[in-house]
Amino acid sequence: MSALLWLLLPVAAASGWLVALRSERRRQRRPPPELNEHYFKGLNLLLNEQPDKAIEVFVDMLEVDSDTVETHMALGNLFRRRGEVDRAIRIHQNLIARPTLERDQRNTALLELSRDYMRAGLFDRAENLLQELLDTSAHAPAALGHLLDIYQQEKEWDKAIQVARRLEGLNGRHMHPVVAQFHCEQAEQAMRHGDAAGATRLLKRALNHDPNCVRASLLQARLAREAGDHRTAVQVLKRIEKQDIDFLPEALPELKAGYTALGAQPELMRYLQEIAGRYRGVTPALMLSELIEARDGAAAAVEYLTAYLRERPSIRGLERMIHLDLGSSEGRAREDLLLLRDLTARLLEDRPRYRCHNCGFEAKALHWQCPSCKEWNRIKPIYGVEGE
Ligand SMILES: [Zn+2]
Repeated sequence: MSALLWLLLPVAAASGWLVALRSERRRQRRPPPELNEHYFKGLNLLLNEQPDKAIEVFVDMLEVDSDTVETHMALGNLFRRRGEVDRAIRIHQNLIARPTLERDQRNTALLELSRDYMRAGLFDRAENLLQELLDTSAHAPAALGHLLDIYQQEKEWDKAIQVARRLEGLNGRHMHPVVAQFHCEQAEQAMRHGDAAGATRLLKRALNHDPNCVRASLLQARLAREAGDHRTAVQVLKRIEKQDIDFLPEALPELKAGYTALGAQPELMRYLQEIAGRYRGVTPALMLSELIEARDGAAAAVEYLTAYLRERPSIRGLERMIHLDLGSSEGRAREDLLLLRDLTARLLEDRPRYRCHNCGFEAKALHWQCPSCKEWNRIKPIYGVEGE
């Protein structure tokens, strides 16, 4: 608070001086005493540690004219950045109300006011201002970008898709993967309402926009499974490896369920064997070790996993090994293994499994849109000894 006030103080003083100087030039008179009065009143309030009242006085004494518009704009933005949105709104509204404002300045003030409203959560008001800007083609890329944010937060996916397309036409940014995600959001809504046919249609649209949309494939597989069509579910899930192999761990549990429903365990084991060689994470090897244990016993699973972990060390692999060894150990060796199991569990506890490649946000669950930077398709599994 105090830093802002000390910044305002000279601005207010200079503004008073400027106004005074201009009016003296105009009328060859002394500066109006009222300004000095305001200034000293503000200063007094400041010195008496009443910063809120001091800000009001200083802001009020800044007369809006072509010389001080920039100052008002900067002040409003500063208030918004500091989270004092009410003050920012007042300053920007005050600017817009001036009939003498040039058109460019008015449009800039409208854009800033819409940002204030967004910050305050007043999306309807922000939307109206942004539409007004778009009608005059002013600040179109920024206005469309903000509208896209609003429609995503409000989950108005049809409008979000329209805006994304306009934005793509305007600045050439490749929006197809994002539009595909919007269609996936719509498909999930349809699925929640039991509208499988609608969801199927929307997922096709998603894949038309982005053939590598993993989320659309996962949803298609879920629809197929729910309809009892496990063969299609398996086919769709096997596509994910080619769409983006980083998302393979998302597909594997469903794939296992599909193959199991079809009674095709050997086929699943062959697939896992193959994919464990191509994929750099540990999940397929862990799943395969479970299947080997069920078919050939723990010793065979340990043998497989030991060979795998020699090539690619992994704490999750180690945890699985300990679990397998525990079944056949006794006495001191068993105690040691239990200690190791606790240690690995603690190592893995609270470890994030996913990270945003845009902002570094870490999470334990997969988010298609980063909760922190709001970018789509940027969160992926973390690889390495402690990760996938
Ligand atoms: Zn992010």
